[in-house]
Amino acid sequence: MKFGLVKTSLIDYPGVVAAVLFTHGCNLRCPYCHNPNLVLPPPPEDMLDAEEALAFLHARRRVLEGVCVSGGEPLLYTGLPEFLREIRALGYKIKIDTNGSLPQALKTLSVDYIAMDIKTLPEKYAALLPLSDNPEKGAGNLAAALRESIAYITGSGIDHEFRTTAAPGIFLEEDIPQLARLLQGSRHYILTGMRPGVTLDAEYGKTTPYPEETLARICAAFRDAGLDCSIRGKSGS
Ligand code: SF4
Repeated sequence: MKFGLVKTSLIDYPGVVAAVLFTHGCNLRCPYCHNPNLVLPPPPEDMLDAEEALAFLHARRRVLEGVCVSGGEPLLYTGLPEFLREIRALGYKIKIDTNGSLPQALKTLSVDYIAMDIKTLPEKYAALLPLSDNPEKGAGNLAAALRESIAYITGSGIDHEFRTTAAPGIFLEEDIPQLARLLQGSRHYILTGMRPGVTLDAEYGKTTPYPEETLARICAAFRDAGLDCSIRGKSGS
């Protein structure tokens, strides 16, 4: 397990001054992903190993309050629970960012905050699977896994947010009622605009993002459906 590092962030962990650790590799292939270097092989050369990351966190424990572990998809790493225990022993609060596809792994973690991406309705994730996966089998399993993660997070008592990059052609306004029902009971729902430019699918990066008025209308529709929806920056994860 190796990590990219952002030494200090005020935006990745709500209300907490945090370091951000990025793992390499992901089991999805969102065309709008703006971190292709964290998804596709090979891993970046300048990543820290676990000991180096822990040494950094040890040295900064009087300055930083929290650690956000992001990706890629960090739950792909079986050593993650033990690594998080070591971070916890240093006195840090821990936030995990996940695509929600690995609920069994998620349930093993001791964390203070969970941020789960919702790309679209679970049954529509087939287009986000790697080409090497069997779309039929993979998508069916994935939809069930995503629903399991959502149910676990909303019922866990752990502070959390669900977040959607409103990516044209992937996130559709017609899906709002079903998504809102799926996320009932969640604490926060964050909507972000798609960030064009360098994306996993270079062609998709030329897509025109939804305009701000559309994002505002989508957010209002989620609020009307009972969610605590807000708009945050531009994203591709
Ligand atoms: S956006 Fe997130 S879930 Fe999608 S490919 Fe990129 S890292 Fe993976």
